[in-house]
Amino acid sequence: MSNDATVTAAASGTDIKRHIELSKIHDFASKLQQPEVLEVLKKYVNWQVQSRNPDDNTLSAEEKNRVPDFAPVSINLDITTACNFACDHCVDKDILNTKTKYKHEALLDSIRLMAAKGLRSVIIIGGGEPTVYPKFGETVRLIKSLGLQVSVVSNGSRLHRIAEIADCLDENDWVRLSLDSGSDGVFQAMHKPKQPITLDQICEKIPDIKKINSKFKIGFSFIVTWKGASINDASIIENIHEMIEAAERAKKYGFDYIAYKPFLTRAEANNAEVMDLREIETRLDEIIVRIRSQVNEAKQLEDKNFKIYETTNLKVLENKSYKSYTHQPQTCHMQFFRQILSPLGMYNCPVYRNQIHGRIGGNEAYATLENFNETRKHTAKLIKNFNATEQCKEVTCLYNHVNWWIEDLIQNPEKIELVQAQAGDEPDFFL
Ligand code: SF4
Repeated sequence: MSNDATVTAAASGTDIKRHIELSKIHDFASKLQQPEVLEVLKKYVNWQVQSRNPDDNTLSAEEKNRVPDFAPVSINLDITTACNFACDHCVDKDILNTKTKYKHEALLDSIRLMAAKGLRSVIIIGGGEPTVYPKFGETVRLIKSLGLQVSVVSNGSRLHRIAEIADCLDENDWVRLSLDSGSDGVFQAMHKPKQPITLDQICEKIPDIKKINSKFKIGFSFIVTWKGASINDASIIENIHEMIEAAERAKKYGFDYIAYKPFLTRAEANNAEVMDLREIETRLDEIIVRIRSQVNEAKQLEDKNFKIYETTNLKVLENKSYKSYTHQPQTCHMQFFRQILSPLGMYNCPVYRNQIHGRIGGNEAYATLENFNETRKHTAKLIKNFNATEQCKEVTCLYNHVNWWIEDLIQNPEKIELVQAQAGDEPDFFL
């Protein structure tokens, strides 16, 4: 699969060619061309072409009003809203510790049904700390038994729960710890653990997990924050000065990589996660220079076992192209391919967890065949009515290019027949 993608986008009715540096994990157009999921892409594009055409008789009115007979290719699974930290920079603060829960058997049924209908990957992330969920291990084991890719994003406080499932993960799975600091002082100030735990105590457990299974990658995630950043009117502690220290720490304890990404906040209008740089406009250049200098120095630590990842968001911050990722087509096609399952319900995008305008259904939307068929109608309705150009006009959306690419295929249906399956070096169905 290509790393750098040259994308033809049908923006504003005019074809424009843009060369973008999408990280491989964000090259979603290539991911949808993998042989195992190409049929889903083709069926979706054809459904869009036919249902947009009032003169088309290939599909019945009923078929036009429900998406093709597939579950999403990938879901974000918020397995719980409970969290044992109180991070200052958390974008999900408003939905934490709501006490709303899944019926566990219904959750497992949902995963089984989605797998039978084409689900390929599950990212256990967000909305709470996954390892707090009492049946975390059982859920991960079910996902793996169904042959799906799995990843877990954790705050690192309960790594014994990761150790318990380490044996069932494989080379296409990953675990990432959100640590965001090089020193324990900054770690404590940013994360505010509710039970005492230090950054060292977390990192010291990595070699033990590697001993159980070294096939899957364990990452150190570092959200870069700067003075002046705020969320929900609360200011955020700065950590730019600890980027190198964090990389040294990650390497020392046996993490496979450190990934740097910029801080996101919430838009007032619709609570979307956005890159809001207005408050630091006059200092933006200075901040970018400081980040670049830290990344360059950290890169000296790279070797065959340890990598430094600059995420796409960090690259677009640096080259100031983030505005070009805010111009979305009217239809967000990714609502079909990737959804968010949370105890609070089923949502269309990670940006709109628990937002009414992004809601597809309840937390049992895929628990039974009957629910699934209803959900197909709700998804179709949302795809038609959710105006991404308006709703997401402030979001630096990393799905921007794949959305434009699919829109172009729908507007020029002869192109979809020419799309060929692309097998990557390693299968990757995380969307
Ligand atoms: S356009 Fe982007 S931000 Fe908006 S709903 Fe779609 S994926 Fe989410």
